[in-house]
Amino acid sequence: MCRDHDEVEPLPSSISRRGVIGGAIALAGAGLAAVGLPAEAAGPGEARSLGRPPVPQAVVVENGIVLDPLTGRVVEDAVVVLDRGKVVAVGNRSQTRAAVAEVNGRARVIDVEGRWVLPGLIDVHVHENAVADARAALIRGATTVRSGTSDFYQDIGLRALGPWAPGVVPRMKASGTFVTPDLGTTILGDPALAPLAGGVRTPEELRYLTSVNLDRGVDWVKTRVNERAGVPEQDPLTQVYDYEQIRAIVTEARKRGVGVMCHSYSEQAIDDAVRAGIKTLEHGVFVSERTLERMARQGTHFTPTMSAIGGMRDSSNPILKQRGEQFFPVLQAAVRRAVELGVTVVAGTDSFGLDVDPIGGEVRLLHEAGLSALDAIRAATTSAARLLGLESSVGRLARGYAADLITLDGNPLENPSALEQPHLVIAGGAIVT
Ligand SMILES: [Zn+2]
Repeated sequence: MCRDHDEVEPLPSSISRRGVIGGAIALAGAGLAAVGLPAEAAGPGEARSLGRPPVPQAVVVENGIVLDPLTGRVVEDAVVVLDRGKVVAVGNRSQTRAAVAEVNGRARVIDVEGRWVLPGLIDVHVHENAVADARAALIRGATTVRSGTSDFYQDIGLRALGPWAPGVVPRMKASGTFVTPDLGTTILGDPALAPLAGGVRTPEELRYLTSVNLDRGVDWVKTRVNERAGVPEQDPLTQVYDYEQIRAIVTEARKRGVGVMCHSYSEQAIDDAVRAGIKTLEHGVFVSERTLERMARQGTHFTPTMSAIGGMRDSSNPILKQRGEQFFPVLQAAVRRAVELGVTVVAGTDSFGLDVDPIGGEVRLLHEAGLSALDAIRAATTSAARLLGLESSVGRLARGYAADLITLDGNPLENPSALEQPHLVIAGGAIVT
């Protein structure tokens, strides 16, 4: 299910699917009026049409220092030429002269005054339920995100909206409804969920909920093996699903080529989930050495969400504060060991709604835990792109890639905290900030 960023969702074919996804789009779009569509989203003189998404104006970004996360190569006094939502040229002035001439007269020219220029960042774990949530992540530099579920399939609505509202929401990989023992009010988001009123525990129930998500068009399936850490009433070391239960989900998702991302904390639960074949381990604080070795062998990715775990240390709730202080150093050690053992670490903030941690902050935390600055940047660019099946369209500034970029006030290889406050954000060729 690897959609290219500029491929437009086909219109829903069945009434049921149309109703559900239409509702999600309405929910996600509730904040659209407040956010507003940037005037420059459509090119000059381009009339909006329902048959074709708007084409952003060409942009020439000049006088920058470009970093390619794949190779680590740095180009000074660089020019990046963006046209029709893609990078058409990147390099020094002589290498880009022809491309600049090609867009001359119709491009907006931005002098970035010697700032660093990087591809837009990727946050592989967010929860966005409205346009305003998605926009909040975008202006902090996440031009591509993977949803770790939304309440009522709003992530699917946001995914569809992207190409039609360039610069308003990030490119989205959706996971739909959380595969969790009790659906709560989410059960009202889709008539097909009604049979799960008694809970989601048997292999049959787990397969059913997974297949409902797949029918709605999710790119990922999100589940859990433990309770939540961010809620004082819950014990994150309590296990909620075992090996057999996760196996039922993974098997069903794999039938349609979809990977499973799994929220986890306790050692045994993590091991169960990894053995059952999840694709990414989310949080994963008490992951054991043995499980990390298995992850390296299997290619299971690790999303430690250090922003979220570390953020609990600042909580006004004493239970959460203590939990953050206990968990964070354990997680740092796990990340360090994961890197030593060859596990691919990817950057996810677990931002929720408007409470967005900048993805650049996660990069800084990964660097502090032991990744080199370049590898920490890769966790939010090339490694994350590969995980999402987008390695030939995002995560780099190269010809043919998406016109997603950020500019920074400092050198991120020397000081990754420069990534936390992007100066300029361009997404899909549209200027966000
Ligand atoms: Zn989450």
